Amino acid sequence: MKYYNLKNHFEKIDFREATIKGQGQEKGLFFPGNIPQLDEEFIQNLPQYSNEEIAYRCMKDFTGDEIPSEILKEIVAETVRFEIPLVKINDQISLLELFHGPTLAFKDIGARFMSRCLAYFLKDQKKKVTVLVATSGDTGGAVAHGFYKVPQIDVVILYPKNRVSPVQEKQLTALGENISALEINGSFDDCQNLVKQAFSDEEINRHLFLTSANSINVARWLPQQIYYLIAIKQWLTHYHENPVICVPSGNFGNICAGLLAYFRGLPAHHFIAACNANKVVPDYFKTQNYQPQKAVATLSNAMDVGDPSNFVRILELFGHQFETVKNKISAYSIDDDQTMNTITEVYKKYGYILEPHSAVAFAAMEHYLKENPEQKGFILGTAHPVKFPDAVEKAIQNSIEIPESLNDLMKKEKKTVEINSDFEELKRFLLHKI
Ligand SMILES: *Cc1c(COP(=O)(O)O)cnc(C)c1O
Repeated sequence: MKYYNLKNHFEKIDFREATIKGQGQEKGLFFPGNIPQLDEEFIQNLPQYSNEEIAYRCMKDFTGDEIPSEILKEIVAETVRFEIPLVKINDQISLLELFHGPTLAFKDIGARFMSRCLAYFLKDQKKKVTVLVATSGDTGGAVAHGFYKVPQIDVVILYPKNRVSPVQEKQLTALGENISALEINGSFDDCQNLVKQAFSDEEINRHLFLTSANSINVARWLPQQIYYLIAIKQWLTHYHENPVICVPSGNFGNICAGLLAYFRGLPAHHFIAACNANKVVPDYFKTQNYQPQKAVATLSNAMDVGDPSNFVRILELFGHQFETVKNKISAYSIDDDQTMNTITEVYKKYGYILEPHSAVAFAAMEHYLKENPEQKGFILGTAHPVKFPDAVEKAIQNSIEIPESLNDLMKKEKKTVEINSDFEELKRFLLHKI
């Protein structure tokens, strides 16, 4: 399989290079050269397959002969080695719990797959790679755990001081070993700017081989298709009609993976992009005019994105046909008040605890079902409520239990290096680790 750069179709590379590079010239995203179809027989019989087998069948065409099948089988088995249950909330809405991985967020799946591919590709090389990421909370933890103790790889994570939740902070800062956490006196945007500067700094690039682990990397994006198939496997044992699939969306990598799976043969009646107050895409659907905006802060902060990078991949999938996109996807914007009310109501009515991102999806799904009452479907539950305790406890007027798996982590010591939002300080750290 070859991947081409969406900004320059002449730049074509293989999976290995796309994984190592992350993005192409002019910051273009890579896109698969063809859309490999899934076997019809395989889709109809999904309930008979193990999650490992589903994951392997899903990924093998994308890695081709660049990863031997025995190794790929190990990688995907580790990628999906936790529960991914589809839970019924009411007669029309179910929720796919994607938060039983090590950092309690769906990003664990992409991060685990990518880290293992990168480790495989680098294993015979002498050079060390430094993975540099900025995080507003969830990405950092998933990347840290994905790359923890992976040989040849150092990870440096920048996060805004005092702006991530206690669980998120421990997930970033307590591992040690090859993971360094930099606590930045500044905002998430400052962290991102510092990372961008580092990538374009000559001196740093002379000394270090930097790569990013953000969601535009194909090795993080593509494995997200796997859990759509695992959802359908469970869906088919209960329902005959195709589901409506609603995805809480920020950078649009997650929903774009679902749409790719749909183009390969995944049964889906319709997709919903559930956004918070950051509504570039809902506005685009109304006006056909894509207008990037400055991100505004919301309760569902992992979706505070003003110019979603993966949206171009969706347009590419649909051949840039606005009407076709609009027929298959609806987009809704849900504000913080609606988010809080949804958490309260769902807890009262069904005893289920949503966190802010899943609540945005639940509210969007309810809007859609009001207009399409004969439909049914599921939303993607992208994080565990314990990662967002303030909003959740306020909404349900009750305390939430910390899952046992977190007890040890919460007892560990936080290890960080605090720096100002100053590129020279970051540079000193990267070059001398001080
Ligand atoms: C990252 C994240 C999202 C948004 O996913 P995208 O692929 O960026 O659209 C939604 N919910 C949670 C909890 C996240 O961490």
